[in-house]
Amino acid sequence: MVDQRSRDTTPELLLRRALHAAGYRYRVNLKVPGAPRRTIDIAFPRQRLAVMVDGCFWHGCPEHGHIPKHNSEWWSNKLAHNLARDGDTTALLEAAGWTVLRVWEHEAPEDAFAHVASALARAGRTATNRAEVPPRANPSHSP
Ligand SMILES: [Zn+2]
Repeated sequence: MVDQRSRDTTPELLLRRALHAAGYRYRVNLKVPGAPRRTIDIAFPRQRLAVMVDGCFWHGCPEHGHIPKHNSEWWSNKLAHNLARDGDTTALLEAAGWTVLRVWEHEAPEDAFAHVASALARAGRTATNRAEVPPRANPSHSP
């Protein structure tokens, strides 16, 4: 099923494509405030929504995460470190006023899209209390 050669970012690309097709505009790999070596996979700066697409293995998915038997102690430490860093990244973003949405790579692209869209709708409602809604971009560029 899983093509080992494919980039592990494929679920992220599918999600980005779906979001873009639906008219959402986002930044890719925006730096995490206070941790410039970490990045937000898909960032919506106006709504302050940070979407992280997490790989099941590296981020310890409860359904697909596992500790390899070979060198299990090293892996156990490594994966625990990853989880701690994820939690720390979330804390940094939330401290800066961002909402963090984590999407597993195993989620169907349409499910991931639905999660992001509803989080944006919620974030948009709070954003409109602070500032006026900018004019909707005209999607039509035809002459
Ligand atoms: Zn998974």
